[in-house]
Amino acid sequence: MRWNTRRWVAVLLAVFMASGTLRAADDAQDATAAQLSGITDKLNEADAVKIRDFGRYSRLLDEVEPFESKLDDEQRAMFHFLRGWRATWVGDYENAKVELEKVADQSVNSLLRLRALSTLVNLLGVGHRYEDAFKRLNELQELMPSVRDRKARFQAMGEASQLLSSAGQFEQAEAYAKDMMAEPPPGETVCKGAQHLLRARREANRLDTIDPMFLDAIEQCEARGDDVFADSMRADIAAFYLSHGQPEEAVKLLTEHRDNLRTLNYSQLLGEFDSHLAQAYLALGDLSNARRFGLSAVAGAIRDEFTDPRRTGYLVLYQVEQRLGHAQQALTFHEQYMAADKAYLDDISARSLAFQIVDQQLLARKTEVDALNKQNEILRLSGVLDRKEVETGRLYIFILGLALLAIVWLVLWLRRSQLRFMKLARRDGLTGICNREHFVEQAERVLAYGARSDRGLCLILFDLDHFKNVNDTYGHAVGDEVLKRAVDVCRRSLHACDVFGRLGGEEFAVLLPDCSPAQARARAEQLRLSIAATAATPSRPELLVTASFGVGSTLQCGYELHRLLVVADAALYRGKRAGRNCVFMGDTGDIPDSPYLTEARG
Ligand code: GH3
Ligand code: MG
Ligand code: MG
Repeated sequence: MRWNTRRWVAVLLAVFMASGTLRAADDAQDATAAQLSGITDKLNEADAVKIRDFGRYSRLLDEVEPFESKLDDEQRAMFHFLRGWRATWVGDYENAKVELEKVADQSVNSLLRLRALSTLVNLLGVGHRYEDAFKRLNELQELMPSVRDRKARFQAMGEASQLLSSAGQFEQAEAYAKDMMAEPPPGETVCKGAQHLLRARREANRLDTIDPMFLDAIEQCEARGDDVFADSMRADIAAFYLSHGQPEEAVKLLTEHRDNLRTLNYSQLLGEFDSHLAQAYLALGDLSNARRFGLSAVAGAIRDEFTDPRRTGYLVLYQVEQRLGHAQQALTFHEQYMAADKAYLDDISARSLAFQIVDQQLLARKTEVDALNKQNEILRLSGVLDRKEVETGRLYIFILGLALLAIVWLVLWLRRSQLRFMKLARRDGLTGICNREHFVEQAERVLAYGARSDRGLCLILFDLDHFKNVNDTYGHAVGDEVLKRAVDVCRRSLHACDVFGRLGGEEFAVLLPDCSPAQARARAEQLRLSIAATAATPSRPELLVTASFGVGSTLQCGYELHRLLVVADAALYRGKRAGRNCVFMGDTGDIPDSPYLTEARG
């Protein structure tokens, strides 16, 4: 394909146009960014001018609307709030409710939430949705302490006072009104608080005089341009004049300001003015004006709204026609009055009932929450109790452990002392060897064993020679030392299985298990030599002591200890008589033939 000049021109043109489009897209993007960055300013400006310049406010909102999907959370909440406020202003209550509920239920910004709730409370009250209104009022009351912004709190208090007053809760309504008066935020005066206070007092029928403070507040309202609040107070003061037989005063006050009020286009308040004027003129006998304002009060009311001005309007019209003798017309107005009166009273009961219902619901919820809290508290306490029980259990275990240890220690201590006492009871106090009783016990046991196993045993009995002389010569203490020394010397040559005991005084016995008479003799000889060779006591090296020995054998006298002792003792006695320091074997006359005997004789 060949490219001719026209084609190149077309391509270049297309490229140029495309670049233009791209540039346009870039520009649009830049413009969007710029617009987005200005959105917060726009929203803030709209908020600031919304009452002063409704047209600008509305335009600013329309300008933001195309960027709705791009708004951040904060901007979106503000946008919905302002749209809700605009819908409220123009009477589009359904949309207003939707927008404001988004902010009240979803926003994390408590200031915006409070502002949305204030507007919602107003909106729901005006729309006769009293139950919802009181629920929102409750949210508003809960939120209020956490919001610092004095202006938003001021507005919230105004709405709360108005709704509470409309439901017959005059005390609470007055309290909010007084708070508003006590501390109006910058730019505000006592005007609005005073208006709410006056309204609450008049509706509660607690207005005996007109406090000059209210007149002063009216002036302050006017100075600020809050004409609606000033006129609302005038309406209440006129109602006071009417109920105190001063219709001229009422006419004077209302007529002076009615024209201005008409320009404000606030039909509810105008209805109040007109119904009061109708009543005042009726009281003054000016039927023409009474009818004129009666008709105006009835006509000015919002369709299907049965307000106090409307029913009062019908009442005045009925009375006017009656006085004029227009029975048919009077009857028609009377019927309308009756219907309006009933609807109005129904509306009042509905408000009061709604308040009671919400109050009960809140009470029920609070009771439920209280019950839950109590339940939690019980659970917590039982947890604490469980922990305490565990602690107490541990303490018990600890105490029991201690008691057990103490008992074990006591048992051991008792056992040890018992053993000590047993040992003491078995030992000879001076020499530490078996005493007579223990020796007899041990010896009999060993002899019995020897008898059962048919083993031969021998008994050596020895007695220190001339021991009395030692005592007499060296004293008793040296005598004791000599006794101990002799025992120590003997112990060295005894075997572990030998039973050694002190039978009394300076007389000792050794039972030798598994021992022939010859071996016994040799052992006795060994003992004799040891005693004789050893100095009796280190303190008296010159003092030498000897002992005489007698030996008895089971081969000779059987396994009876007593017999062994007798035989050994007899041998010992023979030794003493033979000159002492010697070993004598027991009498062998009746000893049967045995290897031991041969050895012994040898
Ligand atoms: P023999 O050679 O005949 O045995 O003469 P002996 O003096 O040793 O015998 P005797 O029975 O006349 O005297 C024994 C003395 O031993 C009398 C007594 O005072 C003394 N005696 C007994 N028991 C003890 C004691 O525990 N300590 C002291 N120091 N002397 C004791
Ligand atoms: Mg002696
Ligand atoms: Mg003796």
